[in-house]
Amino acid sequence: MKEPKCAKCPQKYCNQGITDERELPDFCPMINFKALIKSTSEKYRDKKIKDFFYKAAVTEKEAYDEHAARSLGKSIPVRPRIREISEFAKKIGAQKLGMAFCIGLAEEAKRASAILESHGLDICSAVCSCGAVDKTELGVPAEKKIRNPEQFEASCNPILQAEILNTLNTDFNIIVGLCIGHDMLFTKYSQAPVTTLIVKDRFTGHNPVITLYSRYHRDLV
Ligand code: SF4
Repeated sequence: MKEPKCAKCPQKYCNQGITDERELPDFCPMINFKALIKSTSEKYRDKKIKDFFYKAAVTEKEAYDEHAARSLGKSIPVRPRIREISEFAKKIGAQKLGMAFCIGLAEEAKRASAILESHGLDICSAVCSCGAVDKTELGVPAEKKIRNPEQFEASCNPILQAEILNTLNTDFNIIVGLCIGHDMLFTKYSQAPVTTLIVKDRFTGHNPVITLYSRYHRDLV
Protein backbone atom coordinates (compact mmCIF):
# COMPACT_ATOMS: atom_id res chain seq x y z
CA MET A 1 0.00 0.00 0.00
CA LYS A 2 1.27 3.45 -0.90
CA GLU A 3 1.78 5.75 2.05
CA PRO A 4 -0.18 9.03 1.99
CA LYS A 5 1.72 12.11 0.79
CA CYS A 6 -1.00 14.76 0.73
CA ALA A 7 1.61 17.46 1.27
CA LYS A 8 2.99 16.63 -2.18
CA CYS A 9 -0.37 16.52 -3.98
CA PRO A 10 -0.38 19.05 -6.80
CA GLN A 11 -4.11 19.91 -6.81
CA LYS A 12 -5.60 18.83 -3.48
CA TYR A 13 -8.43 17.23 -5.48
CA CYS A 14 -10.36 16.22 -2.36
CA ASN A 15 -10.82 19.87 -1.49
CA GLN A 16 -12.60 20.33 -4.84
CA GLY A 17 -14.78 17.25 -4.35
CA ILE A 18 -12.89 15.29 -7.04
CA THR A 19 -12.77 11.57 -6.23
CA ASP A 20 -12.24 10.04 -9.69
CA GLU A 21 -9.27 7.74 -9.18
CA ARG A 22 -7.97 8.44 -12.68
CA GLU A 23 -7.23 11.99 -11.59
CA LEU A 24 -5.76 11.24 -8.18
CA PRO A 25 -2.06 10.65 -7.49
CA ASP A 26 -1.19 7.06 -6.58
CA PHE A 27 -0.28 8.10 -3.01
CA CYS A 28 -3.78 9.49 -2.43
CA PRO A 29 -5.43 8.10 0.72
CA MET A 30 -8.76 8.20 -1.13
CA ILE A 31 -7.44 5.32 -3.23
CA ASN A 32 -5.66 3.42 -0.50
CA PHE A 33 -7.81 3.98 2.60
CA LYS A 34 -11.36 3.58 1.27
CA ALA A 35 -12.58 1.37 4.11
CA LEU A 36 -11.10 3.71 6.70
CA ILE A 37 -12.74 6.74 5.12
CA LYS A 38 -16.12 5.00 5.48
CA SER A 39 -15.61 3.73 9.03
CA THR A 40 -14.18 7.03 10.22
CA SER A 41 -17.19 8.97 8.99
CA GLU A 42 -19.33 6.80 11.22
CA LYS A 43 -17.44 7.98 14.29
CA TYR A 44 -18.93 11.45 13.82
CA ARG A 45 -22.38 9.98 14.53
CA ASP A 46 -21.56 9.60 18.21
CA LYS A 47 -23.71 12.26 19.90
CA LYS A 48 -20.90 13.91 21.87
CA ILE A 49 -18.46 13.89 18.96
CA LYS A 50 -21.14 15.19 16.63
CA ASP A 51 -21.91 18.12 18.90
CA PHE A 52 -18.23 18.91 19.53
CA PHE A 53 -17.42 18.75 15.84
CA TYR A 54 -20.42 20.85 14.88
CA LYS A 55 -19.37 23.60 17.28
CA ALA A 56 -15.84 23.51 15.92
CA ALA A 57 -17.25 23.93 12.40
CA VAL A 58 -19.39 26.89 13.48
CA THR A 59 -16.40 28.47 15.23
CA GLU A 60 -14.45 28.05 12.00
CA LYS A 61 -17.22 29.69 9.97
CA GLU A 62 -17.43 32.63 12.35
CA ALA A 63 -13.68 33.20 12.02
CA TYR A 64 -14.37 34.76 8.60
CA ASP A 65 -16.13 37.94 7.56
CA GLU A 66 -19.54 36.59 6.53
CA HIS A 67 -20.28 39.29 3.96
CA ALA A 68 -16.90 38.88 2.25
CA ALA A 69 -17.31 35.11 2.21
CA ARG A 70 -20.82 35.10 0.74
CA SER A 71 -20.73 38.12 -1.55
CA LEU A 72 -17.12 38.23 -2.65
CA GLY A 73 -16.01 34.64 -2.16
CA LYS A 74 -13.12 35.89 -0.05
CA SER A 75 -11.79 34.39 3.17
CA ILE A 76 -11.09 37.38 5.38
CA PRO A 77 -10.33 36.48 9.00
CA VAL A 78 -11.89 38.50 11.78
CA ARG A 79 -10.21 37.32 14.99
CA PRO A 80 -7.02 35.83 16.42
CA ARG A 81 -6.62 32.34 17.83
CA ILE A 82 -7.02 33.39 21.44
CA ARG A 83 -10.52 34.61 20.54
CA GLU A 84 -11.10 31.37 18.69
CA ILE A 85 -10.30 29.50 21.89
CA SER A 86 -12.64 31.61 24.01
CA GLU A 87 -15.47 31.46 21.47
CA PHE A 88 -15.15 27.70 21.10
CA ALA A 89 -15.04 27.29 24.88
CA LYS A 90 -18.29 29.21 25.22
CA LYS A 91 -19.94 27.16 22.48
CA ILE A 92 -19.14 23.82 24.10
CA GLY A 93 -20.12 25.12 27.54
CA ALA A 94 -16.61 24.92 28.94
CA GLN A 95 -16.18 26.77 32.20
CA LYS A 96 -12.79 25.74 33.49
CA LEU A 97 -9.76 25.67 31.21
CA GLY A 98 -6.25 24.55 32.03
CA MET A 99 -3.17 26.36 30.82
CA ALA A 100 0.20 24.58 30.74
CA PHE A 101 2.85 27.19 30.11
CA CYS A 102 6.61 27.46 29.87
CA ILE A 103 8.45 29.64 32.37
CA GLY A 104 10.02 31.35 29.35
CA LEU A 105 6.57 32.58 28.34
CA ALA A 106 5.40 33.63 31.80
CA GLU A 107 4.40 37.11 30.60
CA GLU A 108 2.49 35.74 27.63
CA ALA A 109 0.71 33.25 29.91
CA LYS A 110 -0.26 36.03 32.31
CA ARG A 111 -1.75 38.07 29.47
CA ALA A 112 -3.48 35.10 27.87
CA SER A 113 -4.95 34.09 31.22
CA ALA A 114 -6.30 37.60 31.81
CA ILE A 115 -7.82 37.78 28.31
CA LEU A 116 -9.55 34.43 28.66
CA GLU A 117 -10.81 35.38 32.12
CA SER A 118 -12.24 38.58 30.65
CA HIS A 119 -14.40 36.27 28.51
CA GLY A 120 -15.84 34.70 31.64
CA LEU A 121 -13.66 31.60 31.73
CA ASP A 122 -11.98 30.14 34.81
CA ILE A 123 -8.30 29.60 33.96
CA CYS A 124 -6.17 27.22 36.03
CA SER A 125 -2.53 27.51 35.07
CA ALA A 126 0.50 25.36 35.79
CA VAL A 127 4.03 26.42 34.90
CA CYS A 128 6.55 23.92 33.54
CA SER A 129 8.91 24.36 36.50
CA CYS A 130 6.12 23.56 38.97
CA GLY A 131 7.34 21.16 41.65
CA ALA A 132 10.83 22.70 41.78
CA VAL A 133 12.37 19.38 40.84
CA ASP A 134 16.03 19.53 39.82
CA LYS A 135 16.71 18.12 36.36
CA THR A 136 19.01 15.46 37.77
CA GLU A 137 16.12 14.04 39.80
CA LEU A 138 14.30 13.28 36.56
CA GLY A 139 17.28 11.56 34.99
CA VAL A 140 19.00 14.42 33.18
CA PRO A 141 22.77 14.30 33.82
CA ALA A 142 24.17 17.45 35.48
CA GLU A 143 26.37 18.18 32.44
CA LYS A 144 23.26 18.45 30.31
CA LYS A 145 21.93 21.34 32.34
CA ILE A 146 21.73 24.56 30.31
CA ARG A 147 23.63 26.62 32.89
CA ASN A 148 25.95 25.71 35.79
CA PRO A 149 25.89 21.91 36.34
CA GLU A 150 26.64 22.45 40.03
CA GLN A 151 23.54 24.53 40.62
CA PHE A 152 19.84 23.80 40.89
CA GLU A 153 18.08 23.96 37.54
CA ALA A 154 14.35 23.43 37.59
CA SER A 155 13.21 20.69 35.29
CA CYS A 156 10.24 21.10 33.01
CA ASN A 157 7.61 18.79 34.43
CA PRO A 158 4.93 18.29 31.79
CA ILE A 159 3.51 15.16 33.41
CA LEU A 160 2.97 17.07 36.65
CA GLN A 161 1.35 19.92 34.70
CA ALA A 162 -1.06 17.43 33.14
CA GLU A 163 -1.78 15.62 36.41
CA ILE A 164 -2.53 18.87 38.25
CA LEU A 165 -4.98 19.91 35.55
CA ASN A 166 -6.45 16.39 35.51
CA THR A 167 -7.17 16.73 39.23
CA LEU A 168 -9.09 19.92 38.54
CA ASN A 169 -11.23 18.31 35.82
CA THR A 170 -10.57 21.06 33.31
CA ASP A 171 -12.81 21.03 30.25
CA PHE A 172 -9.83 21.38 27.94
CA ASN A 173 -6.21 22.42 28.27
CA ILE A 174 -4.16 25.01 26.41
CA ILE A 175 -0.46 24.75 25.67
CA VAL A 176 1.46 28.00 25.91
CA GLY A 177 4.99 27.51 24.61
CA LEU A 178 5.93 24.13 26.01
CA CYS A 179 9.22 22.72 24.68
CA ILE A 180 9.24 20.12 21.93
CA GLY A 181 8.82 16.69 23.53
CA HIS A 182 7.49 18.20 26.75
CA ASP A 183 4.42 19.26 24.77
CA MET A 184 3.98 15.66 23.64
CA LEU A 185 4.24 14.30 27.18
CA PHE A 186 1.75 16.89 28.38
CA THR A 187 -0.67 15.91 25.62
CA LYS A 188 -0.17 12.22 26.34
CA TYR A 189 -0.95 12.61 30.06
CA SER A 190 -3.69 15.23 29.82
CA GLN A 191 -7.10 13.66 30.30
CA ALA A 192 -8.84 16.67 28.80
CA PRO A 193 -8.49 17.56 25.12
CA VAL A 194 -5.51 19.78 24.36
CA THR A 195 -5.18 22.76 22.05
CA THR A 196 -2.20 25.02 21.45
CA LEU A 197 -2.21 28.78 21.73
CA ILE A 198 1.54 29.29 21.34
CA VAL A 199 3.99 26.83 19.86
CA LYS A 200 7.50 27.42 21.14
CA ASP A 201 10.08 28.59 18.63
CA ARG A 202 12.79 30.45 20.49
CA PHE A 203 14.54 31.53 17.35
CA THR A 204 11.59 33.09 15.51
CA GLY A 205 9.71 34.63 18.43
CA HIS A 206 7.31 31.66 18.41
CA ASN A 207 6.48 32.07 14.74
CA PRO A 208 7.80 28.86 13.17
CA VAL A 209 6.01 29.43 9.88
CA ILE A 210 8.45 32.24 9.07
CA THR A 211 11.06 29.59 8.29
CA LEU A 212 8.85 28.47 5.41
CA TYR A 213 8.32 31.95 3.98
CA SER A 214 11.59 33.79 4.36
CA ARG A 215 14.55 32.71 2.26
CA TYR A 216 16.91 33.96 4.98
CA HIS A 217 15.22 31.76 7.55
CA ARG A 218 14.88 28.91 5.05
CA ASP A 219 18.64 28.50 4.96
CA LEU A 220 18.58 27.65 8.67
CA VAL A 221 16.46 24.54 8.37
S1 SF4 B 1 -6.45 13.19 -0.19
FE1 SF4 B 1 -5.72 12.78 -2.28
S2 SF4 B 1 -6.49 14.53 -3.45
FE2 SF4 B 1 -6.53 15.13 -1.32
S3 SF4 B 1 -4.57 16.15 -0.96
FE3 SF4 B 1 -4.33 13.99 -0.37
S4 SF4 B 1 -3.48 13.05 -2.22
FE4 SF4 B 1 -4.38 15.00 -2.86
